[in-house]
Amino acid sequence: MADPTATVRCDACPVMCNIRPGLTGACDRYANADGELVRVDPLVLLERTMAQGGPLVAFQSQPDWDGQLVRGAETFVTAIGAGTTYPDYKPAPFIVSTEVDGVDMVTVVTEGVFSYCGVKVKIDTDRHLGPERALVRAQGEPVGHVTTGEYGSQMLSLGGVGHLTGGTKKEGRVTCETLLALSNAQPVELAIDDGATVIVRAGAAPIVNGVAETKMRVGCGSATIGIFAPQWLGKVDEVVVVDDHITGVLSEHQAGKLLDIPPTGIRMRGRRSTPGRYFQVAHPGTGWGGTDISDPLSILDPFDPKHARPGLTMLMVSTTGEHAGYYELDEALRPVARPLPTLLADSVARISENCEPALCSVVFIGGAGGSLRAGVTDNPVRLTRSVSHGVTRLTCGGAPVYLWPGGGITFMVDVTRLPENAFGYVPTPALVAPIEFTMPLAQYKAMGGYMDHVRPAASLDPAAPHRRLGADPDNPWPLTPLSP
Ligand code: SF4
Repeated sequence: MADPTATVRCDACPVMCNIRPGLTGACDRYANADGELVRVDPLVLLERTMAQGGPLVAFQSQPDWDGQLVRGAETFVTAIGAGTTYPDYKPAPFIVSTEVDGVDMVTVVTEGVFSYCGVKVKIDTDRHLGPERALVRAQGEPVGHVTTGEYGSQMLSLGGVGHLTGGTKKEGRVTCETLLALSNAQPVELAIDDGATVIVRAGAAPIVNGVAETKMRVGCGSATIGIFAPQWLGKVDEVVVVDDHITGVLSEHQAGKLLDIPPTGIRMRGRRSTPGRYFQVAHPGTGWGGTDISDPLSILDPFDPKHARPGLTMLMVSTTGEHAGYYELDEALRPVARPLPTLLADSVARISENCEPALCSVVFIGGAGGSLRAGVTDNPVRLTRSVSHGVTRLTCGGAPVYLWPGGGITFMVDVTRLPENAFGYVPTPALVAPIEFTMPLAQYKAMGGYMDHVRPAASLDPAAPHRRLGADPDNPWPLTPLSP
């Protein structure tokens, strides 16, 4: 019987907090309840949904349900709320066996402490957020950098062991706070050196310099010409799709050539790549098509009188259709702004219609190939091999992960596919992420698993604090055996 007045020592991470009665430790994940060390958050159980091949009848109304915590293969014990082990050679908090389609499966469940982790952030916007390699700051502290941009999106790489451990104490703490908030799909304000301020939240639109982004570009300038060229035929003489990366010019582009669109004498600034495709027509910015311009005519040189003529018409549009202008050449072959004709307004609206909603995506990346494996087996390399050979399924809070090829167990997971608030932290600083390894029981035995700690899932205490959630129907059911 525990002494309810005693201070307890938490040994679930290297901080080793001494916790007085009624209080929690430094991470708020463990508490002293009447002299007992308890995990504060309930264990999260997932119930298979119909979309995942689950039964038609909800478990509560099943006549043969006997009140057990786990209802066979229809319930998955996640690591959320399971607790961590430290030092690592102690067996994981839950090693549970379940029969799935006649095969004895085992799931090893633990909350991993990740000093080697970070998030990759994809921000759907044309607006220039900052130059590649620029530092990304939270609360003034460097927490990552801008990495190579992708199609219609700009990418940030945040966290990692360098920021968690290699800078000042404050840098490590703020990096940990930032990663935790982003991983739990909470909003975070990030400031990029020589760039923009952006509020990022997984699954929500980015807010760039205080303005919510709405649309993700339909394509680069050249792609937009390729997609819409036939819709402009006969309605306008020239179209320029302004883009910071590849600005497209209809009359010179192969799409225009195939439609027999004649030369217009247009002369572009910037560097010509291939016909009708121009790089560096302006500087990056938050104006038209991710450039710094507000007047599209600033990217044109005077028209060539050999091909240009008074009255020639021109549409200039951005890659989202957010900006558009219509011009006619005057007697001196200078473009003069005119109201956008309805027919062309429809094509601008079509560009807009083909844009997807702009979102922020946050992918957690962690290395589970270290000491955490010792809580699964006394021969850790066998777990690594089993994961990489597709015998052991790795899930994160029941969500599917992407495994990097090569050594170790480096995985990535879309944070929106986990139950809410699945991530925690410890002040070492490091993130705590749920990890589950599921494999046939025979394989677990063969890899040197802790067989004397395997307990039937049905034997888990129904009175233990737990939270029962319907599994995300878009996630594969994690107890389904892999076929290597
Ligand atoms: S920080 Fe949390 S996990 Fe670590 S010793 Fe303290 S209470 Fe335990």
